[in-house]
Amino acid sequence: MEIEPIIEQQRQFFKSQKTKDISFRKKALKRLLEEVQNNEEAIQNALYQDFKKPAFESYISEIGIVISELKLAIKKLNQWSKPKTVIPSVLNFPSWEKIYQEPYGTVLIIGPWNYPFLLSMAPLIGAIAAGNTVVVKPSELTPKTSQLVVDIIEKCFDKSHAAVIQGDVLIAQKLLSIRWDYIFFTGSVPVGKIVAKATAEFLTPTTLELGGKSPCIIDETADIQLSAKRIVWGKFLNAGQTCIAPDYILIHEKVKDDFVASLKTAIENAYGENPKVSDDYPRIINQRNFHRLIKMLENETILTGGEKDETDLYLAPTVIHCTSSDCEAMKDEIFGPILPLLTFSSEEQIETIINSYEKPLSLYVFTSKKSFAKKIIQKYSFGGGVINDTVVHFANHRLPFGGVGHSGQGAYHGKHTFDTFSHSKSVVNRFTWLDVPIRYAPYKGKLKWLKLFLKYLS
Ligand code: NAD
Repeated sequence: MEIEPIIEQQRQFFKSQKTKDISFRKKALKRLLEEVQNNEEAIQNALYQDFKKPAFESYISEIGIVISELKLAIKKLNQWSKPKTVIPSVLNFPSWEKIYQEPYGTVLIIGPWNYPFLLSMAPLIGAIAAGNTVVVKPSELTPKTSQLVVDIIEKCFDKSHAAVIQGDVLIAQKLLSIRWDYIFFTGSVPVGKIVAKATAEFLTPTTLELGGKSPCIIDETADIQLSAKRIVWGKFLNAGQTCIAPDYILIHEKVKDDFVASLKTAIENAYGENPKVSDDYPRIINQRNFHRLIKMLENETILTGGEKDETDLYLAPTVIHCTSSDCEAMKDEIFGPILPLLTFSSEEQIETIINSYEKPLSLYVFTSKKSFAKKIIQKYSFGGGVINDTVVHFANHRLPFGGVGHSGQGAYHGKHTFDTFSHSKSVVNRFTWLDVPIRYAPYKGKLKWLKLFLKYLS
């Protein structure tokens, strides 16, 4: 597909002002909702073919979220897009003052492979709701799902409104060499830096949804069995290939043995004695990632798991014991079904480990001490997190979802996605029936009156 003509058509279409019409946007979102609902089974099949993602996980972590984001946007669009009147400044008296939500123009969305349907569609919904024209570049590593994204978008939109351009790194680089009005990127930190450099050239506003090493702290007062069950769910969902999966465990040394036993039980309860034959356990996306993960297991103490099958890209849910953060699994984001455990006996040790990494996308703390949870939440900077569970902050569209520092910039979900793809344009309308003369030169003798005026009126 030729890239430049599509972008030119989208620019012309945006200029026509048609996307500014709220009912036009709503109709487009309704078509998309219908098409996603019609294709539920096909999407589940595509995700299964791409990396054996179970239908249940496809629904709760991709299709179901897309459907609820669409329904929310359709229901709330009038309210979200209405200009907001603010209290006018006394300095501007008499006036009205408003904030208009304005679409940026022609925007680019680049998606990753790990939630390939959700992470192409969720930003698209906000971009369309906000009145932009959109090009989506889904991941090349999930060809079946990316093709369905193409089919669905082509069925719902004219290319001049929304289009999909498929391709690998070279296509992504070509897209990044073009001037866009906004870029929304989800992917790894190194590629995030490439995107940031490319957008600097044109000062393009950008959202970067990246990754990192998300810690999971368990103190000696936590409910160990429940913690293990919830951690196993959040970690091995999508076979650990989740940006907000707990990356590593920091556990109080007193409860480590109990926790390891509970982890083994929770893994077996979820996936049976042999997770390879479980219908509920996905595969590693490709050989490159498979080898990257296997390397992390060399020379490490495996507490459970470790079984692998390269031909099937299978790696069992695996827990390893790391005696220091020098182990291979602690060098970079794991992004797979390996869970390293590190023990602590003091809060200083927690601090040393967490602070040796960049600000994480998520942080989880398991404890029954409210004061400990509060301290951890306030002390560390992270994108978002949960007390006594994992991953579930993703589920509430009212909570902005995004990273901080190296784990990303900007946030989305629900109304936050609409806001992300809108420029807030502030407008003051000065009435003409009165013109207070104090601000005009010559200023001599006016300052004391200005101060008096501000003291009593502001
Ligand atoms: P990736 O960065 O390798 O690829 C993401 C997208 O960028 C793909 O579409 C790819 O084609 C493109 N790309 C790859 N190399 C590029 C280059 N040199 N120049 C331009 N574009 C390039 O990421 P991935 O492997 O698809 O996804 C895994 C990463 O994404 C993990 O680090 C994970 O934490 C992160 N992630 C973050 C979130 C979030 O919401 N914060 C969600 C999912 C995944």
